[in-house]
Amino acid sequence: MKAFDYVRVSTVDETLAHLRSPGAQLMAGGTELVNWMKEGIESPGLVVDITNLGLDSIESGPDGLRIGALATMSDVQADPVVNRDFQVVAQALLRSASAQLRNMATIGGNLMQRTRCPYFRANASLPCNKLVPGSGCAALEGGVTTSHAIFGGSDHCVATHPSDLAVALAALDASVVIRGDQGTRRSPIAGFHRLPADQPEYHTELRADELIVAVEAPAVPSPRKSHYIKVRERASYEFAVVSAAAVVDVEGSTITDARIAIGGVAPRPWRLWQAETALRGLSLDDAPRIRAAIAESFADARPLPGNRFKVDLAQRTAVRALRKAGTGA
Ligand code: SF4
Repeated sequence: MKAFDYVRVSTVDETLAHLRSPGAQLMAGGTELVNWMKEGIESPGLVVDITNLGLDSIESGPDGLRIGALATMSDVQADPVVNRDFQVVAQALLRSASAQLRNMATIGGNLMQRTRCPYFRANASLPCNKLVPGSGCAALEGGVTTSHAIFGGSDHCVATHPSDLAVALAALDASVVIRGDQGTRRSPIAGFHRLPADQPEYHTELRADELIVAVEAPAVPSPRKSHYIKVRERASYEFAVVSAAAVVDVEGSTITDARIAIGGVAPRPWRLWQAETALRGLSLDDAPRIRAAIAESFADARPLPGNRFKVDLAQRTAVRALRKAGTGA
């Protein structure tokens, strides 16, 4: 790890001023940045500690839910309103990490996680366009592609994004609230993480001179039902092989509105837009038609040799999340 300067700030304006320094990086819970520094992914010249900014409130009202970027995962997961109206968020957070990590890691930091592609974290010993632009892609050049994308990848990178929370927020149509020198702007979470195209080194829509101050989810008409399912290789603490977040409105057993996002399959939370349209009017009891509706969103899946299983697994996970959300059974 290279030597770096450190400063602890107490206001957003002070933070923005420090972000003008080349090589400055923000740190809150430290559960991501410190790993990046140890793994050689980042070597900041200045670490800006933002833990004292006070952006940790969890507020709800007629306009919806607003979570401060510095709220910890465990505080949000335990919040009564989140558990009553936004269960999908609480469930995703609970399944995200160990209790120790959830106590330290923040909501903003969770969304800024970098891919768990093993070649990205191999300390530049293998080609990786995301880490060293133009170096190649070890995954696509004969590597193991089990954990990689079936949607949204490119010839330059097929990495997936690891945040469970982002998947849940995408199904809620949430936005990331961003502050910069030009003021405040909002980025829908479903598009916040960039697709790689030919520039996989750019991870998100957040610019180097900006910070996340909050996440907002619109108010939910009651009783909106939601559920998050995470399929992983061990139950205790692991990243998703695939996951699904479903938010559904029903009248009786008829689906009147559904939103589904899946994780572990793309460089960003992947909304099943076609399926959402096809699901309206179907009965939750009509399993064959629900499966067919979900499958409509997989027509343009592009699995790799090592992850063809994800096409079927992701569809089954989405069906389960939807039916669990709608029926509770
Ligand atoms: Fe790097 Fe992306 Fe290829 Fe992984 S998939 S090795 S992150 S370029």
